Amino acid sequence: MQLSRFPRIRMGHMPTPLEHMPRLSALLGGPEIWIKRDDCTGLSTGGNKTRKLEFLMAEAVAMGADIVLTQGATQSNHARQTAAAAAKLGMDCHILLEDRTGYNEPNYRMNGNVLLDVLHGATIEHRGPGLDMNAEMFAVAETFRAKGRTPYAIVGGGSNATGALGYVNCALELLGQTVEKDLVFDHMVTATGSAGTHAGLIVGLKALNAQLPLLGIGVRAPQETQEGNVFKLAQAVEEKLGLQGVVKRADVVANCDYIGKGYGIPAESTLEAIDLFARTEAILLDPVYSGKGGAGLIDLCRKGHFKKGERIVFLHTGGAIGLTGYTHVLPHA
Ligand SMILES: *Cc1c(COP(=O)(O)O)cnc(C)c1O
Repeated sequence: MQLSRFPRIRMGHMPTPLEHMPRLSALLGGPEIWIKRDDCTGLSTGGNKTRKLEFLMAEAVAMGADIVLTQGATQSNHARQTAAAAAKLGMDCHILLEDRTGYNEPNYRMNGNVLLDVLHGATIEHRGPGLDMNAEMFAVAETFRAKGRTPYAIVGGGSNATGALGYVNCALELLGQTVEKDLVFDHMVTATGSAGTHAGLIVGLKALNAQLPLLGIGVRAPQETQEGNVFKLAQAVEEKLGLQGVVKRADVVANCDYIGKGYGIPAESTLEAIDLFARTEAILLDPVYSGKGGAGLIDLCRKGHFKKGERIVFLHTGGAIGLTGYTHVLPHA
């Protein structure tokens, strides 16, 4: 597979750093924990959507789009990075935001990612919970087309086969770093939501026979659904790359025990993870994704699922700007 065959517009700061977390490792007393800093991709406070958008926006440019649409929850990191990418490329951006949590606090509705959406010049419209948001978005895209525009609509999270190529690329990058640094990892852990990150990574890891099991920590769907979504997308990615059957259903593993009350609502364990990472390693997790991923990592170390003598890499998918949208649940001075 040669990823360079696919159109890509470089926007991220890559390779992202791969760092040891000695204080968190010591505190948990189990495995040696490393972190892959995709929170440092550079585009408007960074995050995992940047890698996907490098491939998606190249497709948008190739088809002559003058406006990009996408959708997500109110504090969507994907919407914010899409707004930033569009600004950088001189395109308009229109976002549909779903009120998925019921939070009504001013910071939730206007600060964090929403503030940056607006700063990047995106226009926003809102939807109540429970709709098929991709269908809503495609309908709005048609209204732009009817006005003579050329819209490019990006599904939620940028998670289609094109976007997921960004995480095939991340797998290649990470494995290159393990060679440079003489590191062998026993497990990789990432938060998993709309599935593009998990699917791209597993295709890249399996295609290279990395023998590095990947665990997704779910943030929304139950385990069966999440694993099914990831597997289906992984198959679409394989097809795009001309690979076949490198990812088996059993390679796709998600643990959905750290979701708490639901998507976008931090659990106690989410808040504890945010606190621990901030105090031990000065790493900022986010309340929706990496905080839940971090909670899974911490708990699975404490339970001895990840053991002393093993080495783990945790993918930091970003999102810390969302903390300022969640002041109502975070500790205050
Ligand atoms: C979108 C997102 C994820 C989940 O990635 P998916 O590809 O949607 O599964 C994880 N962390 C952060 C911070 C995100 O914004």
